[in-house]
Amino acid sequence: MNIEQIYKDAQALLEGHFKLSSGNHSKYYLQSAKVLEDPKTAKLLADELAKQIKASGIQVDAVCSPALGGLVAGFALATALDVRFIFAERVEGEMTIRRGFEVKEGEKYIICEDIITTGGSALEAAKQVELSGGEIVAYAALANRGFCSRVGSSIEAKANCKLPLNKPLFALEDFTFEMYAPEDCPMCKEGSVAYKPGSRGN
Ligand code: ZN
Repeated sequence: MNIEQIYKDAQALLEGHFKLSSGNHSKYYLQSAKVLEDPKTAKLLADELAKQIKASGIQVDAVCSPALGGLVAGFALATALDVRFIFAERVEGEMTIRRGFEVKEGEKYIICEDIITTGGSALEAAKQVELSGGEIVAYAALANRGFCSRVGSSIEAKANCKLPLNKPLFALEDFTFEMYAPEDCPMCKEGSVAYKPGSRGN
């Protein structure tokens, strides 16, 4: 399965001159939600991810996603694994599990995101599950930005990866883009102006 092509076809992998939220510039931008816009594609990707997880032999009772980014991917993965799905959300900046969702003592959870960058939100959701007595058995995402190390890839975890190294991360593809400080950006040097995705209402 050519994951990169699926992202391109869905206009989830954009090429241009982008200003990232870190302030760095990049030639590529992942608009992760777009790849899940078509439910058939969401199912295809989640089925592939579920296949990897099942092949590993890991037992899973439920999937938990940090809202909003992880919701669609997490729901699709839970469907593919035929397990429960819950989500954690930020309330005044603090990740919490609300809405009557119950984490039972000893239940085995996968934390699922659409994309893992440094894994900060995923880790916060994991901590909430653990506080309620749940056990985190793995992390999962459709895409990995290349800061964390995923099962089956030779990319090593960087210093800014927040996910625990002793838990597997399952993802379908690494999207490792070159990033530039604005003053070193070759596209800026050619005279083009970086565009911040999201600043036009998307
Ligand atoms: Zn630039």
